[in-house]
Amino acid sequence: MSIKKKSFGKTPGGKKVDLYTLTNDNGLQTEIMTYGGIVRTLLTPDRDGELADIVLGYDTLDEYIKNNSPYFGALIGRCGNRIAKGKFTLEGVQYTLATNNGPNHLHGGIKGFNKVVWNAQPVEQDDGPALKLTYLSKDGEEGYPGNLNCTVIYSLTNNNELKVSYEAKTDKTTIVNLTHHSYFNLGSFCSGDILNHQLMLNANRFTSVDEELMPTGEIKPVKGTPMDFTKPTAIGSRIKQVKGGYDHNFVLNSSDGSLALAASVYEQDSGRFMEIFTTEPGIQFYTGNFLDGSIKGKDAVYNKHNGFCLETQHFPDAPNKPAFPSIVLKPGDKYTHITVHKFSAK
Ligand code: BGC
Repeated sequence: MSIKKKSFGKTPGGKKVDLYTLTNDNGLQTEIMTYGGIVRTLLTPDRDGELADIVLGYDTLDEYIKNNSPYFGALIGRCGNRIAKGKFTLEGVQYTLATNNGPNHLHGGIKGFNKVVWNAQPVEQDDGPALKLTYLSKDGEEGYPGNLNCTVIYSLTNNNELKVSYEAKTDKTTIVNLTHHSYFNLGSFCSGDILNHQLMLNANRFTSVDEELMPTGEIKPVKGTPMDFTKPTAIGSRIKQVKGGYDHNFVLNSSDGSLALAASVYEQDSGRFMEIFTTEPGIQFYTGNFLDGSIKGKDAVYNKHNGFCLETQHFPDAPNKPAFPSIVLKPGDKYTHITVHKFSAK
């Protein structure tokens, strides 16, 4: 196993950015940038042992910054997904967040955790290389209360897993909902659309949304609808029945905070298989609906449905939906979240 570091340029504000390459004992490899905690590449073997890069992204830091990346590979915070009108009330105080998705707040706001430079420290663990990233989000950042100390550890285990472990602590009551936003294509980043990938979601229910993709508060059964992925099903088989494509939060069947199977995805040409385990109660399944061919990166043109995201999380707009699991974090308490992406081939 190894961990290598190289300079990867500077932000327009002059902050130095590094790129770390983690390689495990079996040759799986990932490059992670300190800018946005972005997974730039992820190489996993197909059924013949051939490595391919299975995440969408760009070659250079400049492209991530100038092209206004659609969150390719990034860490998302303080709150992933949408908060209606960017408003919520905590302990009797109303807070107003930055709005960046029509009238709503999305993925942490205008300058979310995907656009900040994280401090990095390589960690050599017995079970594979890891990179520890830390970031202090100051009181008031993007409108959020409290100084929030965040740690995210990416581990590339010798068990062929990319494990993402999150922790956060605050000095004032706040809200937190961290996630990771890789766009996967198990064929490779340049192998076209993901409509033939077979998806299984361990979710009997999903949170229904309005035209702005904001939860209505209703939790609906997937049974008898195009949202039913309880058995492996081609992503494209019913996608036309879903306006705009899939962009929904699924309510995971296991929600007791233990690490449980949330999803699996199989790509038959390469044989690549990915399983996702998480401690979170929800998962956003997004089929790259807003990719429109205007973005190029790593020598590929990213068209609609060329990648899918499976973002493990608490439910969107949780602060305004009292029936949803709470995302409130109080001083003295610790936010924790673990998600494991396990790679194999068959
Ligand atoms: C959201 C989409 C959004 C996309 C941005 C996803 O997590 O669910 O609605 O457009 O991120 O890349």
